[in-house]
Amino acid sequence: SSTFHQKPAKQDDEFASVPAVEIDLADAYQVNLAPGTYRDETGRPWILPSFRLAAERLIVDKGYNHEYLSLLGSPNFLRAARDLVLGSAADERRVASLQTVGGTGAVHMGALLLKLFSSRPSTVYISDPTWVNHHDVFIHAGWKTQSYRYYNPVSRSLDFDSLTQDVRSAPAKSIFVLHAVGHNPTGCDPSSEQWQALAQLFEENDHFAFFDCAYQGFVSGSFEQDRRAIELFASRGISMCIAQSLSKNAGMYGERLGALHVLCGSAKSTQLVKQQLKVLTRREISCAPKYGADLVSVVCSDHDLRDMWEKDLRHISFRITSMRQALVDRLNKLGTPGDWSHIIRQQGMFAYSGLTPEQCNALVDDFHIYVPRTGRMMMAGLNDQNLDYVAEAIHHVVV
Ligand code: PMP
Repeated sequence: SSTFHQKPAKQDDEFASVPAVEIDLADAYQVNLAPGTYRDETGRPWILPSFRLAAERLIVDKGYNHEYLSLLGSPNFLRAARDLVLGSAADERRVASLQTVGGTGAVHMGALLLKLFSSRPSTVYISDPTWVNHHDVFIHAGWKTQSYRYYNPVSRSLDFDSLTQDVRSAPAKSIFVLHAVGHNPTGCDPSSEQWQALAQLFEENDHFAFFDCAYQGFVSGSFEQDRRAIELFASRGISMCIAQSLSKNAGMYGERLGALHVLCGSAKSTQLVKQQLKVLTRREISCAPKYGADLVSVVCSDHDLRDMWEKDLRHISFRITSMRQALVDRLNKLGTPGDWSHIIRQQGMFAYSGLTPEQCNALVDDFHIYVPRTGRMMMAGLNDQNLDYVAEAIHHVVV
């Protein structure tokens, strides 16, 4: 009874009179600068060549299986992760390490451990601005949080004076979350001298350094250089833990790769902390995921693959640095009002562009260039195909 299945009356050439397109189809470009995930030169996710090779070896040569890991996680992975992030301070007898569900899980487990077993003041200090999830994860574990000043929106750089004032005026023994390298979202890190000064203040005030290390290798292309702040604090005996994410530097976001490392005062307290971490992880996830951890073990146990991984990271950091320069060159060429040099000075995956929320909305609505209203731009979202378009769009929303 319905006409649904009836064939339409035959027409010779239904679309013959559709007008030809006169406009430049570049208008339809979509550029996504919003996510925190690296993109290659063609705008696609990048499987690091080192990890692609490791995956072949793991599955073909090493007879991979899907068994459970133990409660603390894969020992080989934990050793590799600890060496990467702590370097000379990676003393197995003094560091209690737990494999976690990504860096998020590491922050969570660190927050939980401290909440249950430390007697430090009940407010955790977190940079303003910070990764969107920090406050929530700490609050979820029972902490109060407060921001410390970090960024100067006028100079678009680190506000070191305000930062040190806030570190000084917090109650002694406070917990501070510090981004170890490649600060998210500002791209502004302390210099070596500033880290020294901060370490001094942490010592004087007996503060606890809760390092969040999510971008190791993205700034300099070298694990060693990007862990300098962590090594410095560890060498000075400052109380600390590290929430380490390997999502970005191994390019395995969805495999949920991370670790928590807690520096302990003695071999005995290391054992006690490990036991508690086992209990806590058992209650929450039983054990961490295996595939990514096994891949890291394969890469780190093979000299050539390990070198290749650092080569991949040099490629990433070089590409990001050149995109920063290329964007600023284009803005300068267009005569876009304002000084854009901060985009070159900032480092790591993000540029804190300084665009207003209205300008960001215009980029989204009028140009389909996706940026959050904070103006944070993921620099690897840029490539040779979209740079001109993005620069012209920024110019348009600024003038
Ligand atoms: N900390 C910071 C500073 C981050 O930027 C991120 C990821 N955006 C994380 C932690 C969480 O990392 P993961 O995806 O490994 O959970």
